[in-house]
Amino acid sequence: MAHTQDPVIIVGGGIAGLACARRLNGRGVTVQVLEAAGRVGGRIKTDRKDGYLLDRGFQVLQTAYPEARRVLNYQRLDLRHFAPGAMVHIRGRFYSVADPLRRPGALLDTLVAPIGSITDRLRLLRLACRVTRGPLDALFRQPESTAMQFLLAEGFSDTMIKRFFVPFFGGVCLDPKIRASSRVLQYVMRMFALGEAALPAGGMQQIPLQLAADLPMACLRTGTRVGQVRSDGVSLDDGTVMPARAVVVATEAPETENLLGLPHSGRSVAEACLYFSCDQAAWHPSFLMLNGEGRGPINNIAFPSRVSSEYAPAGKSLACVVVLGNPHGGDAALVDRVRAQLVDWFGPQAGNWVHLETYRITHALPDQSPPTPNPTCLVPRVRPGLFFCGEHGSLPGIQWALVSGRLAADAVLDHLGDLLI
Ligand SMILES: Cc1cc2nc3c(=O)[nH]c(=O)nc-3n(C[C@H](O)[C@H](O)[C@H](O)COP(=O)(O)OP(=O)(O)OC[C@H]3O[C@@H](n4cnc5c(N)ncnc54)[C@H](O)[C@@H]3O)c2cc1C
Repeated sequence: MAHTQDPVIIVGGGIAGLACARRLNGRGVTVQVLEAAGRVGGRIKTDRKDGYLLDRGFQVLQTAYPEARRVLNYQRLDLRHFAPGAMVHIRGRFYSVADPLRRPGALLDTLVAPIGSITDRLRLLRLACRVTRGPLDALFRQPESTAMQFLLAEGFSDTMIKRFFVPFFGGVCLDPKIRASSRVLQYVMRMFALGEAALPAGGMQQIPLQLAADLPMACLRTGTRVGQVRSDGVSLDDGTVMPARAVVVATEAPETENLLGLPHSGRSVAEACLYFSCDQAAWHPSFLMLNGEGRGPINNIAFPSRVSSEYAPAGKSLACVVVLGNPHGGDAALVDRVRAQLVDWFGPQAGNWVHLETYRITHALPDQSPPTPNPTCLVPRVRPGLFFCGEHGSLPGIQWALVSGRLAADAVLDHLGDLLI
């Protein structure tokens, strides 16, 4: 039986759980975040190694995320931006594909890039304008198909789809067949069109650290795995029972479904992320670089140290390579295959790039193929006293994790208010 002095327990200290805790704490509710790992942040983590900052998986903050704009202090995050657009590697060279309104200097290169016809480019411009109009939630009320079906129906050529949309949107959803929802595609395009892809100067982990900094230290307990949840408390893996006024499950979707005893709603998609250090800082562009040919293991590559110099020691560059899925074979074989492609793209000197780390992330994101839920109107209540936030019942991504944390906190506040009546 829970008492009024018991805390609201939040299971999971990723950004959804932290956003929920912060909102409840701000309303004077005592919270206790129980996090299984040794640090908060969940899937947004940055390791320090030999003076490099290694984000666990390539991630960016889109500055246009409406909830992130509300909740995060961008100035204190000291955001650094990627160049708008991308470079696509086709037939032995990189072509820049940039928004001509935001980067007029790249217009000529964009026009000559063999990514499709002039009609394709006009279609892209028209689609980019269309997805920025109207309220965001309207995008999630549209009829839904896979991104591939949507792009074909919009009239895009095979070349444009294969050389641009597959590496670009496949890299965002970690889905090389771009079977993810057409709604997600339009939402992603809207975020790219309205803002910039950014990294906090000190690494992506600055995002959860900023959220956690607003909470009293005693609210956060790491190294604590929850085994069972009820409306009035939780049991830890070591058998300890902790009573709670309410419980919010803020874990990744498969674990939320385990803890709540729900059927698994979808499969996970994976990525491998490999980091290399190299010397030629000067020419590495701050563009995201895409594989426009679909050959070889690499889907995309970025040089985070060109965006924020804190990612690498002075005089060095950091390369971050993304391979979609969970590539077969051991890590050494994967490094060899990636290195061979780096040499093909960047010349023989890439053979000397020093491999720093390989991260294999098996549940990076849930699969986002249709049907997908509308993340703007999540109902985060299982039953009185038991709530959830995070990607279960919603969509993955920083924007939706923060939204779900807020909605769960508001549902808890309603519940606590009801108890007082
Ligand atoms: C490789 C990769 C690339 C991505 N790229 C982007 C991007 O570019 N832009 C973007 O917006 N989003 C991106 N995302 C998605 C984004 O990082 C996630 O959607 C977001 O961080 C999820 O936050 P969360 O709090 O919902 O879940 P999580 O971060 O998964 O947090 C859940 C927490 O619960 C803890 N936990 C699990 N089980 C238990 C238990 N039993 N007891 C206690 N604690 C438990 C976990 O340890 C974890 O800390 C990417 C994710 C990955 C992995």
